[in-house]
Amino acid sequence: MKDIASPARTKAILEKYGFRFKKSLGQNFLIDPNILRNIVEAAGVTKDSGVIEIGPGIGALTEQSARQAGRVLAFEIDQRLLPILEETMAPYEHVEVVHEDVLQADLHERIRRHFEPGQDLAVIANLPYYVTTPILMKLLEEELPIRTMVMMMQTEVAERISAAPGSKAYGSLSIAAQYYAEAETVFTVPKTAFVPQPNVGSSILRLTRRAHPPVSTKQEALFFELVRASFVQRRKTLHNNLAAYWKDTFTKEAIGGNIREAGVEPSRRAESVTMVEFAALADVFAAALEHADSSHDV
Ligand code: SAM
Repeated sequence: MKDIASPARTKAILEKYGFRFKKSLGQNFLIDPNILRNIVEAAGVTKDSGVIEIGPGIGALTEQSARQAGRVLAFEIDQRLLPILEETMAPYEHVEVVHEDVLQADLHERIRRHFEPGQDLAVIANLPYYVTTPILMKLLEEELPIRTMVMMMQTEVAERISAAPGSKAYGSLSIAAQYYAEAETVFTVPKTAFVPQPNVGSSILRLTRRAHPPVSTKQEALFFELVRASFVQRRKTLHNNLAAYWKDTFTKEAIGGNIREAGVEPSRRAESVTMVEFAALADVFAAALEHADSSHDV
């Protein structure tokens, strides 16, 4: 039988079930088997690997993962797709589809139940674009035992995630993602590979989990808080952004002094500040905040 992703078979499946795409669920299905094979190849999975998919749709990508991997677990939010997946996934006994919003899922528990302890795990997905960032951050922040994530997303988001300091795309999302993983765009995908065609460009991003963060900070939460505060108004200096953020705690002069103490020039913009410099800033501000707290106590 033809691949699910072949345009003719996709059309036949959609017609058989009278399926109508829901834009609100980010439903743009892939209809190019070669592209799907390349996505799976980029994850380097073998028969020993487990694959987690978010949003299998009618199973186009699931099928290609199932041909390479030992087990596949797919989360699909749209109830209407379940009977379709039951039919299309029938030849693949090692595929399990769960009807669940991935954002609500207890992924540690699911992984424990569905995969072997220590099994090589990859996420392979064509993400719903309306929730790309929350899904990605959930997968990274929950520190799941996942080696790699190969995911289709809006090109602009892939650029932001993989951006280096000094580029326009560099921001708090780049730092949040690169703290946990190395990020690279593997290839871009033409709109003609989808039904319906999305309005935006699409790219495949690969995230390879790091064994350790590239910087060490005394207070991780404060590090991320400071990074976000620094980018609130991209065109403003670090000094102005941080002074606005901590206006109730420090004078503007004190903020400038703290930034300098971390070895950073306060007139710089956040987009030029490296992760190492943000870590130094976070440590200086952690100490200053502690000091401010204890002087309030007196
Ligand atoms: N994997 C299929 C493909 O490549 O053709 C479909 C990809 S489509 C871009 C996104 C899929 O994610 C849809 O099937 C949609 O119903 C599903 N989805 C949307 N939000 C979701 C969520 N929060 N949790 C799980 N699945 C979701």
